[in-house]
Amino acid sequence: MYQKLKAFLDEHSVELVAVSKTQPHSAILELYEAGQRVFGENRVQELVDKHEQLPQDIEWHLIGHLQKNKVKYIAPFVSLIHSVDSLGLLREIDKAAAKNNRVIPVLLQVKIAQEESKYGWDKAVLLSTLADVKAFEHIELRGMMGMGTFTSDQEITLKEFTTMKAIFDEFQAQHFSPEKFNILSMGMSGDYKLAVANGSTMVRIGSLLFS
Ligand SMILES: *Cc1c(COP(=O)(O)O)cnc(C)c1O
Repeated sequence: MYQKLKAFLDEHSVELVAVSKTQPHSAILELYEAGQRVFGENRVQELVDKHEQLPQDIEWHLIGHLQKNKVKYIAPFVSLIHSVDSLGLLREIDKAAAKNNRVIPVLLQVKIAQEESKYGWDKAVLLSTLADVKAFEHIELRGMMGMGTFTSDQEITLKEFTTMKAIFDEFQAQHFSPEKFNILSMGMSGDYKLAVANGSTMVRIGSLLFS
């Protein structure tokens, strides 16, 4: 599966984040041997443990909801945080990045799903807060992340991906340097083809890769 998926994504210049949550080291190493270097986890403790125990040239992404009090554990090494959804969290990441003498790349998670359970910025709130969002010296805003509603209805997912792409395009063109703010993290095992067809530049794929 890996080679075939990788070839498809390469053809579209889309980056693969291999979502390795709950996977044993052996399964991760198998993908690593095949050439994969970017892995994503949704829990801080699991991310920290795997970073310590697996090859040091793996780039670790945090893709799940992040609590402010846990930022310090991943700040020394995390390559990209996909799930930044508040000013308070940005402030905490900035502080921890400064302590580690680094600039941490992040994505702004935008709420596109109708589900109450999903995190993310509301577009209007993000717009009205943007000056503060952009003010942190130790944070590099690299783009946006969106998660669709958990559904088998492709029409709903398509609508949400289209909305996400339009919001990303607007912010990229009007509020950021397009060459720096250029990541749109969108698409998982069940909907990555739809995401790629609708402008995703980075997909987060777990079950499909590890099954
Ligand atoms: C688990 C997870 C994924 C991957 O989901 P699959 O359906 O297994 O591909 C992607 N993004 C986030 C935020 C996740 O928690």
